[in-house]
Amino acid sequence: MIEINKVCKSFHKLQVLKEINMKLEDGKIYGLIGQSGSGKSTLLRCINGLTVYDKGSIKIDNVEISSLKNAELRKFRQNIGMIFQNYSLLSRLNVYDNIALPMRCWKYGREEIDKRVNELLDMVQIPDKKNAFPKELSGGQKQRVAIARALAMNPKVLLCDEATSALDPNIAETIMELLTEINKKLGITVILVTHQLSIVKTYCEKIYLLEEGKIAAEGESEEFFENPSRELRNLMGMQGITALPENGRNLRIILNEKQTDERLLARMALETKGAFSIVKADAEQYHSGRVFYMIIHVEEECFEKISSWLTEERVRWNLEKEVLL
Ligand code: ADP
Ligand code: MG
Repeated sequence: MIEINKVCKSFHKLQVLKEINMKLEDGKIYGLIGQSGSGKSTLLRCINGLTVYDKGSIKIDNVEISSLKNAELRKFRQNIGMIFQNYSLLSRLNVYDNIALPMRCWKYGREEIDKRVNELLDMVQIPDKKNAFPKELSGGQKQRVAIARALAMNPKVLLCDEATSALDPNIAETIMELLTEINKKLGITVILVTHQLSIVKTYCEKIYLLEEGKIAAEGESEEFFENPSRELRNLMGMQGITALPENGRNLRIILNEKQTDERLLARMALETKGAFSIVKADAEQYHSGRVFYMIIHVEEECFEKISSWLTEERVRWNLEKEVLL
């Protein structure tokens, strides 16, 4: 468990973190989003003890990070792995030696290192790249090496700072699939800092939004994106929002996977004899499962019978004035 309480951090006169509160449970995948300069990387660096916070408390499994000094802190930091956008691999070392580096620093024996590095190479699915040098690898492969190295000391927490931001979208997805698999297999807590909202939407269980050094919004992924806060709308930029027709009513209908099999729209048209048009339909993959939704526009006089029909059918719905594209 990571407990962050009223953490503040300033650089000279610039207050970067303003009383941050977060409570992160073990084994979950968290997303931390926010505009560039909002303090995301600073917060990650406070969590892994690279940056000393000015006030407040960060406890990992009840250990206060600011109370640790030198050797103690170095030892404690074994619990926390970190990966970055630029991979931070050593170019003069091959894949094997890059992954072995943390264990060599801690003076592990040759056999133990060999066993672990081979295990890790399998886990990140690049056993054939063992002897390759970083310059011979693609971005996705480099990030796999960085992940293996971050896991070398069996950390409890993995911090990812824009780890997929430099990758093509489909490669970014495969890296996220890998991180999800690792999260499940090892029960490791993952904190994902990214500006890629589609990634947090799909892979994170809970999301925190940082705005000017404060947690401005937080929530479980599905809820967070389905009812976007002002802060989230702000972050997405107004170009993502389209106004819906002002006459009549606009309903958002939300279907879970089971409900999509029931020919809902056809039945709704037949049974209510109400007229409606589909403004938008889409599917979203959330950590909690797949959700289908439709925005339909109905004339005022049909609203009552269509909405009560939906309620009777136990279909989730709500009224919308605008829609995020
Ligand atoms: P983000 O990761 O959300 O883009 P950062 O945490 O990197 O934001 O930075 C937040 C603010 O803190 C920025 O204005 C940045 O310039 C400033 N900052 C970060 N690290 C330092 C530092 N070591 N010294 C001075 N200012 C810093
Ligand atoms: Mg950053």
